[in-house]
Amino acid sequence: MSSQPIRFAVTPPDPSIASLRNDVREFLQQARAQGIHRTSTHGWAVPDASFSEALGARGWLGMTWPKRYGGHERTALERHVVTEELLAAGAPVRAHWVADRQSGPLLLRFGTEYQRETFLPEMARGKLYFCIGMSEADSGSDLASIRTKAEKVDGGWLVNGAKIWTSNAHRVHMMILFARTGPRGESRREGVSQFLVDLKTPGITIRPILNLAGEHDFNEVVFSDVFVPDAMVIGTIGNGWQQVTSELAYERSGPDRWLSSFHVLKAYRKEVGRQQGDSPSIGRLVSKLWTLHQMSMSIASMMEKGITPSVEAALVKDRGTQFEREIPEILRMLTTDSTRADADVPSIFNDSLEYSLLHAPSYTIRGGTKEILRGIIAKSLGLR
Ligand SMILES: Cc1cc2nc3c(=O)[nH]c(=O)nc-3n(C[C@H](O)[C@H](O)[C@H](O)COP(=O)(O)OP(=O)(O)OC[C@H]3O[C@@H](n4cnc5c(N)ncnc54)[C@H](O)[C@@H]3O)c2cc1C
Repeated sequence: MSSQPIRFAVTPPDPSIASLRNDVREFLQQARAQGIHRTSTHGWAVPDASFSEALGARGWLGMTWPKRYGGHERTALERHVVTEELLAAGAPVRAHWVADRQSGPLLLRFGTEYQRETFLPEMARGKLYFCIGMSEADSGSDLASIRTKAEKVDGGWLVNGAKIWTSNAHRVHMMILFARTGPRGESRREGVSQFLVDLKTPGITIRPILNLAGEHDFNEVVFSDVFVPDAMVIGTIGNGWQQVTSELAYERSGPDRWLSSFHVLKAYRKEVGRQQGDSPSIGRLVSKLWTLHQMSMSIASMMEKGITPSVEAALVKDRGTQFEREIPEILRMLTTDSTRADADVPSIFNDSLEYSLLHAPSYTIRGGTKEILRGIIAKSLGLR
């Protein structure tokens, strides 16, 4: 068994980063004053095209991408700070999130020149939105077992099959589709490829699936003889496994994997903690929050150096999503007998607690379950 070290270097304080934080806070204050956005207790789940476009105009989308593709050539750490501030403020970031977080970087790394020139500038302007077409009914954790097929035809590929749990598919323009283009081979990871798919293409049906809270957020997306031109193949046919793994590292490493319940904690401190005094559990939660912030900053620094920190990202997602889940559980226990008795009085804490309790079970599943992440971590430590 070979093991590989897991490293989280401490990111030294940097005055330019602190000043960027202030810039984002000022921008958000102004945006609120101008009515461009309302703070929400779950802004990460709220799509708002005008807010995404305002962020694009401010230069805070596609931040690390080359200028010739509409990017701004800022550092991964700077991007990290902007995303952290947006999430902590409850800004409505949902519309552009997947494009900025993972579809754009994927195209930058594996896309053709035509794809980069066509799609990246629109993503960086906050006008072109993406969804993730990986999971299928019998292929979530075992992603290599997907059955949606793309078969070669004249000038392109004909896609048949169905994707499931596709978040936001009914609201966005394009999907990055992961499909089978050949046999699985001995490694079981051969014969898979990625495609850019315009969701308006004939033959695509998007059917709603309601989540635990009764909301329509994810979907089943069915493909019946959907034609995808050759120009929309991402990278190399058959190399999809390597590509999708690098995409997952972007998906797993950011502050969206530990800030989803932040607003419940914030509202608790504001509405309840100050009156009742804090319990030691709150101290523990805040110290975990700070640790995750530092680990996540460290990942951003590694990405800046061109490292793909897949194992470190898995560790942050495992710890981070566990943390997001425990916040509402702990606060529910702390407030059962007192504050929540006043549930009729309007309260941001009660609203955000209710929202989090209904959504938190999904935090440790989406983007890869905790069992799968722990498998990746154990492997890298040489434990399996
Ligand atoms: C809110 C939400 C949004 C989502 N959005 C998207 C999206 O936009 N696009 C997309 O493609 N997918 C999306 N997903 C799907 C998500 O990625 C999958 O649900 C996840 O990967 C798990 O796959 P599964 O549901 O098939 O569960 P399964 O793979 O069937 O797993 C069931 C259980 O078995 C465990 N398990 C499975 N294999 C192993 C193993 N080898 N070792 C140990 N335990 C194992 C799992 O950990 C889990 O607890 C979303 C899911 C959620 C909840």
